[in-house]
This record gives sequence, structure tokens and C-alpha cells, in this order.
Amino acid sequence: MLNDLEDFFPPEPCGREHIIRCLQEARRLFVVHCESSIVLAQSALQAADTLKATDLEIEALLLIGQSQQIIQHTDTAVHSFTLALEKSKLVHDTRQQSQCHEGLALCYQSQRQTQKALHSWLNSLELATQENQIERYIHCYLGIGDLYFQRDHFEQAFYFQSQAVEWAQLHQDIDLQSRTQLHLAATLIRIQDYALAERLLLKTEDTLILPIRLSWLAEINHYLGQISLAKHDWIRAQAYFQAAYDLNLNTSSRWGQTQCLISLGQLACQQAEHEKAIVHLQQALELAEALENEHLQQQIHRALSSNYEACGDFIRATMHHIGFHNYYLQLQKQNTRDQLDAISTRRLNQAEIKLQLLRSELEVKQLMQQRSLEHERMQQLENAAYHDALTGVLNRHALDEQLPLLLQQIRQEKNKLCLIMIDFDHFKQVNDLHSHQIGDEVLKQGSKILLQLTRETDLLARFGGEEFVLVLPRNDASIALRIAERMRQEIARHDWDKVSTGLQVTISLGCAQWQPAMSIDELMAAADQALYQAKHQGRNQVCLYQGPEQ
Ligand code: GH3
Ligand code: MG
Ligand code: MG
Repeated sequence: MLNDLEDFFPPEPCGREHIIRCLQEARRLFVVHCESSIVLAQSALQAADTLKATDLEIEALLLIGQSQQIIQHTDTAVHSFTLALEKSKLVHDTRQQSQCHEGLALCYQSQRQTQKALHSWLNSLELATQENQIERYIHCYLGIGDLYFQRDHFEQAFYFQSQAVEWAQLHQDIDLQSRTQLHLAATLIRIQDYALAERLLLKTEDTLILPIRLSWLAEINHYLGQISLAKHDWIRAQAYFQAAYDLNLNTSSRWGQTQCLISLGQLACQQAEHEKAIVHLQQALELAEALENEHLQQQIHRALSSNYEACGDFIRATMHHIGFHNYYLQLQKQNTRDQLDAISTRRLNQAEIKLQLLRSELEVKQLMQQRSLEHERMQQLENAAYHDALTGVLNRHALDEQLPLLLQQIRQEKNKLCLIMIDFDHFKQVNDLHSHQIGDEVLKQGSKILLQLTRETDLLARFGGEEFVLVLPRNDASIALRIAERMRQEIARHDWDKVSTGLQVTISLGCAQWQPAMSIDELMAAADQALYQAKHQGRNQVCLYQGPEQ
């Protein structure tokens, strides 16, 4: 792997473009192959330094720091972030500064330097609010929540983490949603809300981006195991822990493996299989010592102590108990030293107020977006309900609804109205000679021609099959006849040959003028009678209803 990477980087000097590509590659390797990512970013850093490209130097340093932090080289990571911070201050890049503070916060957090971590989170949060970087607030809220979590202040942890979850949903970032939900689930387990924790974990599992987030899948399995353990469902607990352990082996997460071994030890202990528990815990202790993680070591000492006690090995039990107790005292001392000072509390409150404001703005904006989307959808539905799918003109349902209203208006105005029935001539032949598809095309183009000859206030509807109805409010028969004639001509002279060779299309039209005593059905029947006459007289013509035959 490393050899490949060195190949990727050509001998110096190299240009800006190549450094950018190199950093992109390093970022791609980040999380899964942190060591390679560091190697590549370091070469990029040197090249950027030669070029005096400060922005790229900062990018490289940030990436190096983040990778070092992930593989738990926190001291060197602090160094990288501090250097990046100095440089980003020089070029006044608030975005990068905020990122550096976040990196530092994470390092201090793993070093359990609560006060320093909180200050870094606050710095990052304040800079992020200046730039409206929602993603970064979410990180900060998560971070602050984790600080409380580490100190067993679960109520506060719950507050910050649930805020982070809500922000992530608002931000519509699936990866961040998964991450925030995982943190919240851990807290829910600690406050014994197992049902909610389980729901949240299963939901998270569904949307996990794999294989990048394989380590999160391990965490989910581990948490589900803890829930099963709390419910005394040992079979399931065993399966979850084992799955989590295997996933952690797969991602080479020694920290995750240690956690799983501790849990497997706990499980064995609950089943009174103390010797088995001790095997798991000893293995966990070796890993924790290699990781130099005191917190984990003490957790293990405590578990080992009670297991040896249960086996009757009181000497070993006491040994491990002393180990645990010393650490516990140290933690107590640190806890009193680390109480949040007044300034931090005030800064936190101020940032909170600003964020609440921002959030309500964002919510209003999203609500409005949603409204206009709903409105659009309603309109689409309405459109579909009132329009014919093939031709796009009104359908019969629309005509049935709108004609009575229109007629009522005309009655009130004591105005005139005409109705024209339009029927395509010998349409069966069109289908038979040219295919049904061509028939459809004729209906489409034909209705378009008809529509172009109508006014806004007219109603053109497909009445059924190849029959259309045109309603002309505030027009008398003479105008209706003129329009009908125009329509007949336009259809007849259209270049139908383009649609299908040899195709000829004509229409017949029957007009009727509404009389105050007429119902809608009578008006339709009148127009239909005129249409029948037009057909009877040879088609491709317009006829006017002349009143009831005497
Ligand atoms: P006339 O001149 O007497 O009106 O003759 P016609 O063949 O047009 O009349 P008829 O009512 O006997 O036949 C109408 C044809 O229209 C029958 C049917 O297959 C066709 N038709 C109805 N709706 C559609 C459609 O949506 N697409 C197509 N391609 N054809 C249709
Ligand atoms: Mg016809
Ligand atoms: Mg017909």
C-alpha cells in the first residue's frame, strides 16, 4: 500500500494541481487507512511549503491531525492542529480555524482534559456561528454532549445530543444523522431507556453508509448487545457482542475490540462463568495497556476484581481493586478541578441563544419550502383530475363541473352562450389505415389546433373518444359559426402527411346557441343534432341548430 502511495507522489517540485489531487486521495483513504493518509498528506505538506501555498499547508495539517487523532496518537495530533491553527489565523480563515479547534477538542477529549476540550469546542462553535456552518455546530453539540457523557452527566449529555440529532435531521445529512443518533443511543442506554435506544439503533443501522461506516455498525451491534444484556437475553447478547467483535477485528479497531471483550466478560460474569469472564478480561487488559488507555484499564481492573472474588481468589481480587480504586480517586479529584467555570457557562449560553435563533429561521425556511412543494403537488393532482391525459385539454368531469357554474353566471348576466360539438370524421378509418398510435397523434395535434383558436374564457373539453365540446360564453351564434368554420379549415389544411403518409383529417361541427329556457342536456342535444346534420350532409362542415322542428 505504502509503495503505491509513494509512486503516486512524483519527485519535487510539483504544482498546486497535483498537491490538491494528492490531498483528495489522502482524504479518500482517511478513516479506513489513516496511516497511508498521513504519509500522503505529509508529502503534500512539504510540497505546499515549497510552493508557499498556505491554504494547502493548512489542509494537509488538518488531515494529518485528524488521522493521528483517529489512530489515537493524540499528542502528535495536538501538535498538527496547533500548527494548522496558527497558520489559519495568519490567513484569517475562520472556517479552517473552527476545524482546528474541533480537532483539538477531540484530542483533549480522548486525553480526558475536559476543561481544555470544552474551551476548544466553544471556540469552534463561536467561529462556526460566524460562518453559519451547520455541520460544525452539530459536531460541537455532539462533542459537548460527549464531554458530559464521559463525566456521567447523562441528562446534560442527552440535551446536547438530542439537539445534535435534530440539527442533523434539519440539515438532511444522513451520515451525520447516523452519527448523532449513535451518540444519543449510548446515552439512552445509560439512562436505561432501552426501548428508545433500540429503535434509534435499528433505524441508524438501516441508513448506515457502508463500508465506510463499518466501525459504526460494530458500535450498533455492541450497543444492541448491551441492551440484550440488560434484559437478561444472554443468547442474543452473546450474538451481538460476537458480531461487534468480529467487525472490530475487520476494521482493526483495537479500542472497539477491547470494549467487546469487556462486554463478553460482563456477560460471562452474569452467567456465573467467572473463569471464562477472566479470560476475556485479561485479553481486554492487554489491549487496553497497549492502547495506553487508562480509563479502559480501570474498567477492566474493576471487572476482574469482582470475578476473582467470585472465584475465591481474594489476593488477585484485591490487587485489581487497588488498581481501580486509585484511578477512581484520581478521577474524583479531576472532576472537582474540572467543574465548568462561569466564563465557559456564559459562552455556552450565548452560543445557544444564537443557535436557537438560527434554527427557527431555518425551520421557517424549510416549512415554506415544504408548503410550496405541497401546493405544487396539489396543483399537479388537480391538473390530473381535470385534464385529459392524452390531449391535455379539459376532461368530461371538468366540463360537468364547470358548465353549470358558467351557465348560472350567464343567466345572472342575462348574457349569451354557445356550445359546439366537434367530431373527427371517419376516425375508425384513421385507426384502421394508419394505426391506433397515429390516431392518438391526430387527437393530440388536432386538439392543439383547436385550443389555439379558443380564448381564455372558453372551455374546450374532450367529451369522449374523438368527440370534443367547445363552450363559448358571451358569444352569439354568428361568432360561434365563425370560430367553428375556422377550426374546420385549420384542421383540414394541417399538414397531416407529416404524421403519416397519405393521412387526411377533417372534422364536423354542430353549433347551438343557448336559450334561457334550455337545460344543459337540452343544449347538448341541440348541438348534437346539428353535428348529426353536418355528418349527414357529407362531413367536413359546420351546421347550426335551427330550433325544434315544428
Ligand atoms: P364518423 O365520421 O361518423 O364520426 O366516423 P367515425 O369512424 O369517426 O365514428 P365512430 O364513432 O364509429 O368511431 C370512432 C372511432 O374513434 C372508434 C374508436 O376506435 C376511435 N377512438 C376513440 N377514442 C380513441 C382514442 O383515444 N384513440 C384512437 N386512436 N382512437 C380512438
Ligand atoms: Mg367520428
Ligand atoms: Mg364519434
